Amino acid sequence: MTALPNRIQAIEFPALGEVSLISHPFPPAPGPDEVLLRPDYLGICGTDLHVLHGKHPWVRPPVRTGHEVVARVVAVGAAVTRFRPGQRVVVNPLLACGICRACQAGRPNHCESAKVLGFRLPGLGSTYLNAPAAQLHAVPDGLAPTLAALAEPLAVGIHAVGRARDLHKVLIIGGGTIGLCVLLAARLAGAGPIDIVEPVAAKRALALRLGANAAHAPEALSGLGGYSAVFDCVAAQATLDEACRATAGGGTMVVVGVADAARALPLPRLQRFEIDVLGSGMYVPADIDAAIAALAAGEIAAGALISAIRPLAEAKDAYEQAGQRDSVKVLIDMG
Ligand SMILES: [Zn+2]
Ligand SMILES: [Zn+2]
Repeated sequence: MTALPNRIQAIEFPALGEVSLISHPFPPAPGPDEVLLRPDYLGICGTDLHVLHGKHPWVRPPVRTGHEVVARVVAVGAAVTRFRPGQRVVVNPLLACGICRACQAGRPNHCESAKVLGFRLPGLGSTYLNAPAAQLHAVPDGLAPTLAALAEPLAVGIHAVGRARDLHKVLIIGGGTIGLCVLLAARLAGAGPIDIVEPVAAKRALALRLGANAAHAPEALSGLGGYSAVFDCVAAQATLDEACRATAGGGTMVVVGVADAARALPLPRLQRFEIDVLGSGMYVPADIDAAIAALAAGEIAAGALISAIRPLAEAKDAYEQAGQRDSVKVLIDMG
């Protein structure tokens, strides 16, 4: 093993609106089922910004952030056989109990006692860290680490698309990273025409490059309708109202956005026309595998989602940039 430093640096939100690089002692040797990781790239997610600015439904600073990571394996615990030093991996940040009915059924995202790294557990935004080997997904050699860093948000899109019954005609509300990942996933799934609604012109242009049939400004939303599947990646009251109205009878409305409070739904229309409103919460491990496979196969131009790659020393600016209207995915180069 090459010489390791005595200390690590971690990206933390010590208080609302504050981003700091904090020095900590180097982690202990990995436990029997753990792997010591050296992150390559960390993706900044809209949900991280919700936490930073106090808009997440249940997580507030102080938090050690980060849940979208591609990393190299530095050392493995005594019982780990699936991974070896030097290998590149993506981390599944959803730590479920493994024993409840949902976990036993292969639905760890339904586990009521699950916790997510970077939210209720310390995050992955660290120069070194130990992670359970069971949470790791191998990255094939040919896949660039910057693209592998997109596996987590793409898995969110793949999972959401899997919730809809009929992809004959699709509407996506919100063209940020998650909306665009839903677009990529819907295309992978062979969806019919996919329309997207997004206020920022540059993101609408990106959606068209990624294969959207049409990209509309929000003012056009009230004139759209008849979709067999609508994905609301915003989950504001106004977008939910429009999403329910734009879903055709018998269609599915999938809520992908994270609402910060309760919202009302137009029950008369949902009841009369048998419109299903479904939540989509994170993913299951198979969605991450599917995301890595799609990225490795080069089936989708996901690299276009990367707005900027900032060095770790500029972490504070990176979070600010990630919050700007025209940013999609900002990655931090962990060094
Ligand atoms: Zn994320
Ligand atoms: Zn469980």
